[in-house]
Amino acid sequence: MEVAGVQISLLHDDNKPRKLKYNLGHPRVLAFGGAYSNLVTAVARAGHEQGFETIGVIRGEEHLPLNPSLARAAAHGMRLTYLDRAAYRLKHTPAVQERLREEFGEVFILPEGGSNAAAVRGCAELPGEIEDDYDVVCCPVGTGGTLAGIAAGLPPGKRAIGFAVLKGGAFLNDEVARLQREYGRRTGNWSIELGYHFGGYAKTTPVLDAMGFERVYVAKMIYGILDLVRRGRFARGTRIVAVVTGQPDTPVEEWGSPTGFDSGDPRWRR
Ligand SMILES: *Cc1c(COP(=O)(O)O)cnc(C)c1O
Repeated sequence: MEVAGVQISLLHDDNKPRKLKYNLGHPRVLAFGGAYSNLVTAVARAGHEQGFETIGVIRGEEHLPLNPSLARAAAHGMRLTYLDRAAYRLKHTPAVQERLREEFGEVFILPEGGSNAAAVRGCAELPGEIEDDYDVVCCPVGTGGTLAGIAAGLPPGKRAIGFAVLKGGAFLNDEVARLQREYGRRTGNWSIELGYHFGGYAKTTPVLDAMGFERVYVAKMIYGILDLVRRGRFARGTRIVAVVTGQPDTPVEEWGSPTGFDSGDPRWRR
């Protein structure tokens, strides 16, 4: 779609399988996440498809019946366990990790959001798969692995802009830099917009709800892009690829109410 002389196209691409691609190969994999974690469901699916054991460590208390996201994970054979919020905050400390290893045995423990050097490597493959010409790639930022990878994989002259979906996201600048360093390719072609978190992680507003995009990540990015265009941040003729992260088959009911703003508008098609 063209907005004020700026070309915006949507690229549907689920980032979690990319982040997992070079993290797998262990007989037992453990992922942390909230009750609606896309990482937890992606690990469960990969374990089911590739035949390794999976453990999901969920923040908070168990609620039965399981929500659709955790039910899907359980149906894929994932063992679910729960950490109260205090313990969850300490999940990367030796004490908590030792407790988990006592309970589950030898296990590969993914970091928060699955973001590490191997995840960056997987996401760095994305730009090479973009067929059309473009100048800027945009993506949402949760833990930063996706942006770190996309930026590391961009050809010269192109740049990446991430949209932080959580409040107080300034630390993400250090985090993306750290992830790129760990991966072995530090680039200066990216930046993070911090002003489009809409109150914080998983917080929403009627405006976001009305957009008809997945609202934890994607709607905030789309809103941010349109706002930057409106503010003249991009020269006329700039071609933006917005990476619509997440599972394409997630029902919109799980995403939010699709009223008003129409994500199915044919003008969004590439
Ligand atoms: C995990 C996730 C992100 C954020 O990716 P990070 O690498 O953690 O920044 C964005 N969109 C969706 C749909 C996700 O599930």
